[in-house]
Amino acid sequence: MNLEEKISKLKKEKKAIILAHNYQRPEIQDIADYVGDSIELSRKAMLEKDAEILVFAAVDFMAESAAILNPEKKVLLPTLGARCPMAQMLTVDEIKRAKSHYPNAPVVLYVNTLATSKAYCDICCTSANAVEVINSLNADTVLFGPDRNLAEYVAEKTGKTLIPIPEWGFCPTHLLFQPEDITVLRQQYPDATVMSHPECSGEIRRVSDFVGSTSKMCYYAKECSAKTIVVATEEGILHRLHKENPEKRFVIAYEGAVCPNMKLTTLDRVYTALKEEKHVVKVPEKIAKKARTTLEKMFLVKS
Ligand code: SF4
Repeated sequence: MNLEEKISKLKKEKKAIILAHNYQRPEIQDIADYVGDSIELSRKAMLEKDAEILVFAAVDFMAESAAILNPEKKVLLPTLGARCPMAQMLTVDEIKRAKSHYPNAPVVLYVNTLATSKAYCDICCTSANAVEVINSLNADTVLFGPDRNLAEYVAEKTGKTLIPIPEWGFCPTHLLFQPEDITVLRQQYPDATVMSHPECSGEIRRVSDFVGSTSKMCYYAKECSAKTIVVATEEGILHRLHKENPEKRFVIAYEGAVCPNMKLTTLDRVYTALKEEKHVVKVPEKIAKKARTTLEKMFLVKS
């Protein structure tokens, strides 16, 4: 029996499902029950009533969110060290400091935050629904963290003032894209359309034809008429894009756009996680209760 078959057998025996983020390795995406972005995976996890174990092939904050939303299920993160550096950039002290300067501004946090920070915000958002979440608030000034680029993008789209907390939060992988690379690719593929993630810099967004979350990119790639699409987000998504659109060509805007933390999950680690039921992700109920409210409020916003 190969590793994939062993994983599949264990999954059935233990009533487990595997949820993989769009940035995971191709072989992980191929054994997953669902592949998607944070919001898609969280929703799927909540709908899987019969599952007893959720294996999150992703990074820490996504597994934490799943544990918060599914307290009755065992949530496993195959690699303990799979941490999103952006999520580590925002501390509770930073939120409190910002709030002391803007006491009337609601705090909106990107789901790429730790549970302790989520517990201190008013509502969460993902890159797929950030614009709708901000528009749903009866406030013109909003404290937003931790991604400065996403804050800028949402401010452009909503016309509201978004104060980034911290001032400098970023995704190290999305900052690697440079507008010069897009210029070269546009010369090489004159008919191509360019799509980028809102975690990219404003310079990249401005030279893109489409800006959106990974789920929106997948939708756009299917719907648009372009036969060649240049992609400015983590390279793992190309696997899903190729699978869903075999007749189209996808070109990564920068080949080094690899999130090392997303790539820590391997088939071996998924197998061990399922076999030994590790590493269990637990959030203390006091924090989970508050963080759950902020995630549930997000799900109520139509997007
Ligand atoms: S791609 Fe960026 S935001 Fe996503 S997990 Fe990696 S570091 Fe975090």
